[in-house]
Amino acid sequence: MGIKNVSVIGAGTMGNGIAHVFAQSGFKVTLVDVNAAQLEKAIATISKNLDRQVSKGVLTEEQKATTLQNITTNTSIADGVAHANLVVEAATENINLKLEIFKQLDAAAPSGCLLASNTSSISITKIAAVTKRPELVIGMHFMNPVPVMKLVEIINGYATSKEVNATITALSKQLGKVPCTVNDYPGFIANRILMPMINEAIYSLFEGVAGVEEIDTVMKLGMAHPMGPLQLADFIGLDVCLSILKVLYDGFGNPKYAPCPLLTNMVMAGKLGAKSGEGFYVYTAGSKELVVSESFK
Ligand code: NAD
Repeated sequence: MGIKNVSVIGAGTMGNGIAHVFAQSGFKVTLVDVNAAQLEKAIATISKNLDRQVSKGVLTEEQKATTLQNITTNTSIADGVAHANLVVEAATENINLKLEIFKQLDAAAPSGCLLASNTSSISITKIAAVTKRPELVIGMHFMNPVPVMKLVEIINGYATSKEVNATITALSKQLGKVPCTVNDYPGFIANRILMPMINEAIYSLFEGVAGVEEIDTVMKLGMAHPMGPLQLADFIGLDVCLSILKVLYDGFGNPKYAPCPLLTNMVMAGKLGAKSGEGFYVYTAGSKELVVSESFK
């Protein structure tokens, strides 16, 4: 399967990174979002991240320009996928939204086009079942930040063909990533293991066992994690963490996955972590200093 044109659906935290790595590897990328302002923001973020690569000597100015030229934007899914060989969906982590998007993709994308989802936890089998091409549907789970993180967790749905898995595995390597195939069960591997740890860290805070800094310091210095679990939750997005925990809870029917009420409250209050400016920490543009939110002092 020759892949040249890649459409990325959703231009948020992950979508801009996915567009960046494909464009940098020479693919023609169409970045699609319902929100035009989000598309502008995504291109600005990609440009800033490319500047960082240039300043580190990883890329030349010319390569930066070519990468940006490889990306076009669109606010319509139908127009944005008309010439795609592969679509990578990275829209909001919401099952009904993803099912609706995949119905639209199936109707609008060319017949042999592969449909991948970057979902953190939603069943690929369920997503594939709303299309007429379930054998061409696969999970392509990039890690955040996409240009930096090496892993791509590849998820085989019930009907995913061996050929499609082989194509996506080879493609991930072409992007300079390390692919790892897993089967389709709630949370796959990455989030089945990560999210209970993050949830337990939030419970520890909720129950007053320790403060934000103490919890993160124990895990950083004690377990050699580069980032504490609360900072990581802010970085992922607290709404994303909550959605994944709900998928684990519903999928396994086991109370050990029940989201901590503090996490639910923070999401309801719009405290979504770095992307909203506040979660367990507060985030000020241009500052790298880690400041604990007033709510937890
Ligand atoms: P985000 O909230 O930053 O961005 C989601 C984007 O989707 C928004 O720009 C929104 O406007 C857009 N969108 C919503 N409905 C749309 C539609 N119908 N058509 C086109 N665009 C639409 O979310 P994110 O953190 O980038 O997560 C995206 C996906 O990636 C989710 O499935 C998430 O689980 C997964 N993921 C996230 C992380 C992470 O660390 N944030 C890591 C791996 C995977």
